[in-house]
Amino acid sequence: MTHDEIANIAPRVGWDLHCHTVFSDGTETPETLVKQAKQAGLLGVAITDHDTTSGWGAAQQSARRLGFPLLCGTEITAQFDHVSVHMLAYQYDPNSPRIARMFAKTRDGRVRRAKAMVRRLSEDFPITWDDVLAQVKEGSRTTIGRPHIADALVRAGVYATRSEAFSGAIRGGSKYYVPTPSPTALEAVQAIREAGGVSVIAHPADPSRNRMLLSDGQIEALIDEGLCGLEVWHRGNAPDQRLRLLDIARSHGLLVTGGSDWHGAGKPNVLGENLTDAEVVKQIITRGAIAPVIPQDSDKPANSAVFPRA
Ligand code: AMP
Ligand code: FE
Ligand code: FE
Ligand code: ZN
Repeated sequence: MTHDEIANIAPRVGWDLHCHTVFSDGTETPETLVKQAKQAGLLGVAITDHDTTSGWGAAQQSARRLGFPLLCGTEITAQFDHVSVHMLAYQYDPNSPRIARMFAKTRDGRVRRAKAMVRRLSEDFPITWDDVLAQVKEGSRTTIGRPHIADALVRAGVYATRSEAFSGAIRGGSKYYVPTPSPTALEAVQAIREAGGVSVIAHPADPSRNRMLLSDGQIEALIDEGLCGLEVWHRGNAPDQRLRLLDIARSHGLLVTGGSDWHGAGKPNVLGENLTDAEVVKQIITRGAIAPVIPQDSDKPANSAVFPRA
């Protein structure tokens, strides 16, 4: 298949299964996410903040009130040897002790790590820990990350935008950078499975995040632990890698998903720019431990046919 042919098989109608809100490094509330997804004409949307379930309640309330279909998920920070891995987890039991412990540990580690970065940055830039906290919208319910440090640097006038900060002082490999202590990707897949959820590797072939991508062997090791899918339709995946990902998905019977990685004003990614097919969402719902929000009076005819558990 050529690049064009691959682009042609990406879903043009469907769900956006990768979105961030103020409960991590997005700039908008879960309510705005649901409203904008509805306005954009999507079939449904998933909330997937980093290492937390804090936004699920607000997202579920908004989805019910607005009559719009919603899945709940999380983008889990993990690593496989030296490769940074983001693992999307959908429809798992948020009260599962193992996954809740994993998130608490990562969030504590993220705070320590962000403080360490700010200590280093403060030697050369006008930035304090309080300046970073001022950029955090939901207090301790928000998962802290480099974007909040970026916002503080923008506020201080050091950079014009978040993206500029990510190309500058806070980029991976800068002398101010400190990594986030993370569970292994194998642990993440096990924890998601134990919590009854569906695991999908986020942007598995994004060369801007890793010098080395996950190898076929590494992906197969995750499949052996219960990995369910690959996020093929994501702007970060290199075009020449998508066929490889589709081949792996086909030969192992994995789900193929897509999402925008929307962060509101925090990134240029447009809500709905990449989508997941309704049939794949149906699989996620069938396999997942918790009920999705699927409004009975939804005006989208596909829903009644596609969602038997509604
Ligand atoms: P962290 O997990 O704290 O290392 O921060 C990484 C997060 O920063 C990712 O999840 C992205 O959402 C965000 N990010 C990465 N690059 C950029 C960029 N160029 N502009 C805005 N946000 C970015
Ligand atoms: Fe993010
Ligand atoms: Fe990610
Ligand atoms: Zn993301």
